[in-house]
Amino acid sequence: MRSGVVSALAPNYARYPVELAEGSGCVLRDTDGVEYLDFLSGIAVCNTGHCHPAVVAAVREQAGRLIHASNFFTTAPMTRLADRLVQRSFGREVLFANSGAEANEAAIKLVRKARRGGDVVVVQGAFHGRTYGALSATPQEAKQAPFAPLVPGFRAVEPAADAIAAAVDERTAAVFLEPVQGESGVHPLGDDVLRAAREACDAAGAALVFDEVQCGMGRTGTLWAYEQAGVEPDAMTVAKGLGGGMPIGALVIGERLAGTFAPGDHGSTFAGGPVVSAAANAALDVIDDPALLARVRELGERLLEGVRELPRVVAARGRGLMVAADLDADAPDLARRALLDQRLIVNATGPATLRLLPPLVVSEAEVDDAVARLRALL
Ligand code: PLP
Repeated sequence: MRSGVVSALAPNYARYPVELAEGSGCVLRDTDGVEYLDFLSGIAVCNTGHCHPAVVAAVREQAGRLIHASNFFTTAPMTRLADRLVQRSFGREVLFANSGAEANEAAIKLVRKARRGGDVVVVQGAFHGRTYGALSATPQEAKQAPFAPLVPGFRAVEPAADAIAAAVDERTAAVFLEPVQGESGVHPLGDDVLRAAREACDAAGAALVFDEVQCGMGRTGTLWAYEQAGVEPDAMTVAKGLGGGMPIGALVIGERLAGTFAPGDHGSTFAGGPVVSAAANAALDVIDDPALLARVRELGERLLEGVRELPRVVAARGRGLMVAADLDADAPDLARRALLDQRLIVNATGPATLRLLPPLVVSEAEVDDAVARLRALL
C-alpha cells in the first residue's frame, strides 16, 4: 500500500492510496503483497478475470509475431474478430476503435452521415464517454458544464417509452440507449422502453444505437444485453470487456447502416491492432460460452440476494453480474473503507449507491465472501 500522492499524474482522478502490482482471477495484489477481492473488474473490463491464461498467451504470442500494422492492411486477428462479432450479433460490419468513447464517436458520425445530419436523442442517466461527441450525448450537468460549448444536436429525454416516442421525428438521426445504464448506478431500461425506441425509430427512419460498452461481453448473463429484450438495434458499441483487459472498442453496424462509411470517412491509427484483437479473440473464447453465461445469471441472482439482505441497503437491483445497492450511508466513504479495511474493491456511482461488477469467472465462494465483507463493514 502507498500513501504518497503520485505528483506527476494529472489530478483528474481521486485515486486510492494503493499501488497495484499483480492480478489473477478475482484477486489483485498491491506492491506490499496485500490481497484484495476485486468486485469492480477495472470497471467492467476484466470480465475474464485478471491475467486470464488464454488472454496472456494470446497477447504474448501475437506480440512476438506482429505488434502493429496500421489500418492500411488487414491482419488475421482483426478480420477474425470482426467476423466473430458479426456472427454473434445482428451486425453486418465492424469498425474498430480504442475505447468506448471512441466507438460512440464513430457511431455518432455513422448515424449523422446516414441521415445527412439530424438530432441524436439520448436519455437522462446515460453515460456515453468523455470525448466531445460522447460527452455531448451524456446529459449530466457536472460532467458537461465545465467543457461548454458542446457538440450541438443532442436532446435528452426521460428513459420512458412515451418520452422517447414523443422525441423521435423525421429530424432524428438516432436514439442512443444503454440497455442497462451502468454509470448512473445499474438501471436496466425496461423491455417496453427498448421496444418503444425501436418502433419510434422505424416509424421515423431513424437509427437505434445500443451502447453495450459496459453491459455487453457477457456482463448481464447473455453475450449482449439486448438479447434479453429481444430488440435489435441498427448499431451497437462495445469496449471494456471486449479485450480481456486490453484497450479495444468496436462499432457493430447492422444491415440498415452497412455501407454508410466510405474510405476516408473515419479512422484511427491503432484501432483493431493485432495484439488487442488477438486478446479480444481469446476473451470471446472464454466469455461466449453458454455454461459461463448461465453461471453469470445464477451467481448474479446470488449476489443480488446477498446484497439485498445487507443492513443499511434500501434497494438493490441488477442484471447478471452487474449489481448496485442504494444505501442509507455515504457510498464513496463505504467504498474506501471496503478497500482499506476489508480488502474488497467496489465502487460508488453516486453519494448513496454502491456498484459491484466482479469478473465473470467469479466463484460462488467469492460471491459469498464479498457479501460477508460488506456485511462486516455495514
Ligand atoms: N459507454 C458506457 C456505457 C460506459 O460505461 C463507458 C465507460 O464507463 C463509456 C461508454 C466510455 O468508455 P471509455 O471509458 O472506454 O471511453
